[in-house]
Amino acid sequence: ARHNPGQPEFLQAVAEVVESVWPHLAAHPRLASSGVLERLVEPDRAIMFRVTWVDDRGEVRVNRGFRVQHSNALGPYKGGLRFHPGVDLSVLKFLALEQTFKNALTTLPLGGAKGGSDFDPKGRSPGEVMRFCQAFAIELSRHIGAHVDVPAGDIGVGAREIGYMAGMVRRLSNRADCVFTGKCDATGGSPMRPQSTGYGTVYFAADMLERAGASFDGLRVAVSGAGNVAQYAIEKAMQSGATVVTVSDSSGMVVDEEGFTPEKLATLMDIRNGHGGRVSDYAARVGARYEAGRRPWSVPVDVALPCATENELDADDARALVRNGVRCVAEGANMPVTPAAARVFEAAGVPYAPGKASNAGGVAVSGLEMSQNAMRLAWSADEVDARLRRIMRGIHATCVEHGSRGDGRVSYVDGANIAGFVRVADALLAQGVC
Ligand code: NDP
Repeated sequence: ARHNPGQPEFLQAVAEVVESVWPHLAAHPRLASSGVLERLVEPDRAIMFRVTWVDDRGEVRVNRGFRVQHSNALGPYKGGLRFHPGVDLSVLKFLALEQTFKNALTTLPLGGAKGGSDFDPKGRSPGEVMRFCQAFAIELSRHIGAHVDVPAGDIGVGAREIGYMAGMVRRLSNRADCVFTGKCDATGGSPMRPQSTGYGTVYFAADMLERAGASFDGLRVAVSGAGNVAQYAIEKAMQSGATVVTVSDSSGMVVDEEGFTPEKLATLMDIRNGHGGRVSDYAARVGARYEAGRRPWSVPVDVALPCATENELDADDARALVRNGVRCVAEGANMPVTPAAARVFEAAGVPYAPGKASNAGGVAVSGLEMSQNAMRLAWSADEVDARLRRIMRGIHATCVEHGSRGDGRVSYVDGANIAGFVRVADALLAQGVC
C-alpha cells in the first residue's frame, strides 16, 4: 500500500492473487526465494501522456492517456484500451495485472498490458471520436508494435475506435503490421472477435455447470451490462437453451420474465451500438420492466453473469443471489464481484469463476487474430469458434486441476491464480534476474 498510494483497485487485485498463491509458494521454496512474486506484482512500466484534440466547436481539449505494460515474459504485451471517465492508474494497473494472468491461462504466447484514457465517448459526435482516437494513437504509437505491444478494445473502445487508431498507426509507420486486434473484417479482424468474450464466458459457465451435472438448458440467467460482452453472453446463453431475464447499464436494469429472444437482442444492439441508447429505451421498445438505479442481482436466477464493470456485485447482492438459489456465477467483466461477495459464494458452496479465467475468450481470439495476420490467413467463423471452445475448455480443466479441494469442490479463483502464476513465474525464472 505504501508503494501504491491511492490505488485501491490495484491493491485489491494484488491481494486476491497473493492470497491464492501464498500456500503454493510456501510449498515451493525455489519460487519463494526467487523474488518472483514481488517481480510479478510490479508492472514493467506505466506510461502516461497528454492527448490533445479539437472538439466540434473548435475548442482544444486535453485528456490523459495511459499504457501499463505489465509483463512481456510470455510474449508481446497484450491487453485492451478503455475510454471512460473512471480510468486512472489504479484501474489500469489492476487490469494489466489481471490481463497478465489471464493471457497466461490461454496458453498462447502473450504478455499482459492495459491502457486507455479518461476521455468520455458518451455524447461525442463520430467526428470527435475519430479525432480523439487519432490523437491518442499518435502518442501511443511510440510504445506499441506487432512484436512489442498489441492493444485491443475494452469499455468504450470497439471495432470503430480500433479502426481509427490502427489507421493512424499504419500511416505513421507505413507498415501493415498487426498492431491492434479487434479490427473489423475489412482490415484483417477475426470474424469471431466481437462474440468471443461473451461466448467464452458462457462456454466456461457451461463447463462449470457440467461438472455439477447440469447444463444451461431451461435455466434462468441474469446478465448485467448491455455492451459488447453482455450482448454476446445473452446470445450464447439463449442458444444454449437458457432464459435470460435481465440486462442493465450504469443507470438501471431491465427485467423481462419472458426472457430475451433473437429479435429482442437485435433491438438492444440497434439501440446501443453506435447510437449510444440506454437500456431504458430498450425496455420501452420491447415492453419490459425498467427499474432506475437498480442492479440485476435481486432477481431470482440459476446463473449470474456480471458483464458490466469492476465491483458491480457486492456482498448484499451475493447474499440475495444465494437466497434465491443461484447455482453458478461466472464473470464476463473484469473483477465485477467484490472480495466480500466472493467470500459469500465460497461460504455457500456456489461455484464462482473470476474473469481472468471465464472472460479469457476475448484475448484468446485476439491471439488467434495475431496469428492469422502474421500468416496472412483468414479462418472462418466456425473454425475460430471451435478453437475458442477448445481454449475455454482447457482453461476450465486447468482451473479444476490447480483449484481442487479435498472435499471435491473447486476454487476457480485459486485455480486461475495458481495456474497463471506458475506459467509466468516459470518464464521469468528461465530468463534470469531481469
Ligand atoms: P462496453 O463499453 O461495450 O459496455 C460496458 C457496459 O458496462 C455498458 O452497459 C455500461 O453501461 C456498463 N457500465 C460501465 N460502467 C458501469 C458502472 N460504473 N456501473 C454499471 N454499469 C456500467 O464494454 P465491454 O462489454 O467491452 O466490457 C465490459 C466488461 O468486460 C469490462 O469489465 C471489460 O474490462 C471486460 N472485458 C471485456 C472484453 C472485451 O472483449 N470487450 C474482454 C475481457 C473483459 P453505460 O453505457 O451506462 O456506461
